[in-house]
Amino acid sequence: MFGRRWRLFRILGFPVSIDASWLIVLFLLTFSFAEQLPAMLSQFYPTDAPLSADAAYWAMGLLTALAFFGCILLHEFGHAVVARARGMSIGGITLFLFGGVAELHDEPDSPGTEFLMAIAGPMVSAVLAMGFWLAAVIGYQLAWPHLLVIVIGYLAVINGVVLLFNLVPAFPLDGGRVLRSILWGATGNLRAATRWASYAGRAFAWLLIFSGLMQLFAHDWIGGVWSVLIGMFVDNAAKSAYQQVLVRQALSGEPVRRFMNAQPVVAPPSIDIAHWVDEYVYRFHHRAFPVAANGHLEGLITTQVLSQFPRSEWGTHTVGELMNRDLGSVSIAAEADALDALGRMQRQGVSRLLVTAGNKLLGMVSLKDLLRFLDLKLELENEAGAAVHEPQALDADRPVVAYATTNLSEAEIVKNALMAEGVRCSLDAENQGGFAGVLAVKVLVRAGDEERARNVIDHHTHPHAAVMS
Ligand SMILES: [Zn+2]
Repeated sequence: MFGRRWRLFRILGFPVSIDASWLIVLFLLTFSFAEQLPAMLSQFYPTDAPLSADAAYWAMGLLTALAFFGCILLHEFGHAVVARARGMSIGGITLFLFGGVAELHDEPDSPGTEFLMAIAGPMVSAVLAMGFWLAAVIGYQLAWPHLLVIVIGYLAVINGVVLLFNLVPAFPLDGGRVLRSILWGATGNLRAATRWASYAGRAFAWLLIFSGLMQLFAHDWIGGVWSVLIGMFVDNAAKSAYQQVLVRQALSGEPVRRFMNAQPVVAPPSIDIAHWVDEYVYRFHHRAFPVAANGHLEGLITTQVLSQFPRSEWGTHTVGELMNRDLGSVSIAAEADALDALGRMQRQGVSRLLVTAGNKLLGMVSLKDLLRFLDLKLELENEAGAAVHEPQALDADRPVVAYATTNLSEAEIVKNALMAEGVRCSLDAENQGGFAGVLAVKVLVRAGDEERARNVIDHHTHPHAAVMS
């Protein structure tokens, strides 16, 4: 959505920018205001002779559109000022295709903060709508210039529309945020609150898309396309807002160390690319390898380099020549937050990072590992965040704990080993400390299967495996 952006100015310490897509709306609004002005003039001042020049309408249209954007800015300032007063960090305010947005650097930390922050924008719009309406009424009585009264009246109406639209309880619209804060406050569960608010957001989005299609059938092209676009935008935002909350809650507070592969296969810098492909890529099925010589970490080589050369030239370049030597950009500390690792991968468009301590290689962490963990964690936790995964395969019997660990992947390995030997089992996990807390994972088997499970686990590579009852 955000293409080219221009920084305009700073107000109250907030940088204000416009996105290139904003120019499209500016044109559309100018056009539609200019079109509607004559009709409104003749409705309220039927005795006036119509303005002769089209240019006058266009100028008034442009002025009205700019004043409208001023109102949108004030609405966003409402959000931003309250957010800042509640200690949240705000990036700036940007006007774009669908209005304005105040960029939050972090999510509100309490339902109260979210409520106040969300309601502040609509409050500003409400004040503006009432103010313009009053001014229009007074202007009409006192016979202010007719065009001016019409424009003021128009601004009252569209601020009212902005107010109503934003109060629809559809996340991520303001009303949806208000809804989320209320649900959050009532249940104490941010995730469930976000989910319901985002369902409401998606339902509203589909309503918009549907009504847009109806408008298209009625040959209202601009209105129809507009409704469909806004609907798609809201739907997408609602979906991703929920996913973001899930990811944040699951990953934050988890150190990267927990997900890393502590024994990554290391490639030497001296071999050529053809050898590397044959002996490393095809053999270990990884897309990236740390490069080290004499225990000294030198870089990271990924299969992306292969697209730079035809196959015939693979023998003429070495790993050391093509690897990424900028270790700072491809590595992360073992104690860093997994959420930071994910953000890093997304920003840089990579799916693997080296885990290092200084210049020492500790392991590798991949997007796949993070996502697998997310998947499991979300599956294992119930809505209360307290957690139980019903042992489906075992429901008829009294399950016995065959293995316990705090490491999900380890439990999964044990489960797979048991299943490979025909022992029916399932995982049960408990979150022992809130959303980002420690997981206690148990591998359950049927009563009577303990002995077989013990044999399988003993044969497994985990020396500390134990059968408990
Ligand atoms: Zn708002």
